[in-house]
Amino acid sequence: MTNSFAATHAKGKLATDTIFGAGSAANQAVTRFGKDKVVNATIGVILDDNEMLVCLPTVEKVFRNLPITEVTNYAPIAGLPDFLEAAAALTFAENRPDAYINAVATAGGSGVIHHTIWNYSEIGDTLLTSDWYWDPYKVLCEDALRKIDTYSLFDENGKFNIKSFESKVNELLAKQNNLVIIINTPAHNPTGYNLTDSEWDQILDVVSAATRSKEKRIVLLVDIAYIDYAGDKNESRGFMKKFGNMPDDILVVLAFSMSKGYTMYGQRTGAMIGISKNKDVVKEFEDINQFTSRATWSNINRGCMKLLSTIYNDKAVLAQVEAERGTCYRMIQERAAVFMREAKAVNLFMLPYVAGFFLTIPAQKPNAVCDKLHEDNVYAVPLDKGVRIAVCAVPATKISGMAGKVVKALAAV
Ligand code: PLP
Repeated sequence: MTNSFAATHAKGKLATDTIFGAGSAANQAVTRFGKDKVVNATIGVILDDNEMLVCLPTVEKVFRNLPITEVTNYAPIAGLPDFLEAAAALTFAENRPDAYINAVATAGGSGVIHHTIWNYSEIGDTLLTSDWYWDPYKVLCEDALRKIDTYSLFDENGKFNIKSFESKVNELLAKQNNLVIIINTPAHNPTGYNLTDSEWDQILDVVSAATRSKEKRIVLLVDIAYIDYAGDKNESRGFMKKFGNMPDDILVVLAFSMSKGYTMYGQRTGAMIGISKNKDVVKEFEDINQFTSRATWSNINRGCMKLLSTIYNDKAVLAQVEAERGTCYRMIQERAAVFMREAKAVNLFMLPYVAGFFLTIPAQKPNAVCDKLHEDNVYAVPLDKGVRIAVCAVPATKISGMAGKVVKALAAV
């Protein structure tokens, strides 16, 4: 571009969002052919069986009953104390690790990722995540002048590829002293995989060994955006207890988000929860991340923070929210089960799905497969190495028949 005002580091930035792109193609098809004829599996939010956006009813009720000043007023930069307490308690349930813990409010889970990249890696450093990952990780790294590298998530048996993980951790730590690793589990986006407890043990063994040499440090950023749709509350959080046994050179950061768990996507509310055996590390965590909040967005959404603490502080209300969420969980599980059943019947290979909003089919030419699917009025998201299907957004009746159409599209490209 000849006429650019952009600073050197900003030149050429353009976020082409494939997810929203695929979504708008689906919307055009709906206008042309009618809603009934179109399967829109691009959307990353829960839609009910009439394809309407779900807001958990009790969440809505509590939110609408908040005093207006609790919605309009400013909040402390670090977050309302009762919100931070609720966020940590709801994150851990009965699995609070035996360590120092501190929390800072953020603009959703995205805010946690932003701050962790900025405050725990050097400019020019490389962050590590798995080869199947949520695209914005890369944008967040690149905007902060960092790079991203990946390990293979799955081995040939469809289990966590610990060898690939280990070799990438060691390769990167040979070049830099701090390494931020982003792990999205349980109910991983885009595959729906849950790391097992024994896979967690292997991961923690690798990171503990890698930081044995004095100057090497690892920040383990665990993105738990979908944890409330991953199955039993305490079982899906069991791995958190293990963070009480980490060496001093490892800081764990959990990315709590109200987007999915409380269907408050647009309210931009979350928290970063720092866990360390070392008191100074969590004090520093609180200080530096508050500072970055002040410098990035100031304080976050007061009303949504109040919403969480109100829900948490009333056991009956919390139980109601959990029951309503449970209904959504079972609805999504049922949709995924329909797809998996049919995939098996037509010999369609998919990545191991356990729970969550999405499932993925590996493909050599994902864009061509998605284009081909349009001929059947099926809309999905092309990833680098596969096709993502949002079971959170498609009624079971429309899921039926989809696996066969994917097989047909794969064969045609
Ligand atoms: N992590 C993953 C894997 C996601 O898919 C999302 C949202 O889609 C987020 C984090 C962050 O969500 P939010 O910033 O809305 O909390």
